[in-house]
Amino acid sequence: MNLILFGPPGAGKGTQAKKLAETYSIPHISTGDILRDNVQKGTELGLEAKKYMDSGELVPDDVLIGLIKVRLSEPDANHGYLLDGYPRTKPQADALTDILEKISKPIDYVLNIDVQDEELVRRLSNRRICNSCGASYHLEFNPPKTNANCDSCEGKLYQRDDDKEEVILQRLSVYKKQTQPLIKYYDDQNILVTIDGKGQVEDIFNKITNILND
Ligand code: AMP
Repeated sequence: MNLILFGPPGAGKGTQAKKLAETYSIPHISTGDILRDNVQKGTELGLEAKKYMDSGELVPDDVLIGLIKVRLSEPDANHGYLLDGYPRTKPQADALTDILEKISKPIDYVLNIDVQDEELVRRLSNRRICNSCGASYHLEFNPPKTNANCDSCEGKLYQRDDDKEEVILQRLSVYKKQTQPLIKYYDDQNILVTIDGKGQVEDIFNKITNILND
């Protein structure tokens, strides 16, 4: 299964991606996670990416294109992939088309998770992440037992710098300008499916698997 999870920040792509990757035994390739990992390790890539990420801007296309090219050539992507957070611009999408053509792994579906702006801000500003296992919580809808630690591994919970309200608004604006036009790009190729992303995680997951198992 070759999939792209598409949608604005806060649509729940990461949560659905983890479940889908497990169900279909395909690697979850999140460019945001790869970049955050590099920031944490202080690599050259991380140092360059951090300034864009902290201000809610996109990291330059050439960096992302190089990164995804390498990642898709790794052996675990031989039998499928689930892209989360890539592509985000037309040049990234064009580059992906070229890469996938060369390695003969065409996209089966682009799953577009649709959520209204107000709801996105509410979700992102209340999101907390475990610094140890990466589990994601929502202070209102999926609260941890204590506000400080992860229920499953007791790691410390933190708020991503880019989940602060002013950065969220910038990320949404960037999404609308640079990423949203890709909906038409993939719809024109007849591989786009839009899913209503409002509601419970399990219900949305079931909607997606019904489409994929059809
Ligand atoms: P995410 O976790 O997908 O919301 O990504 C967090 C941040 O990483 C974004 O706000 C961007 O700064 C950067 N980023 C992740 N993926 C990409 C991409 N495909 N193109 C450019 N920047 C990206």
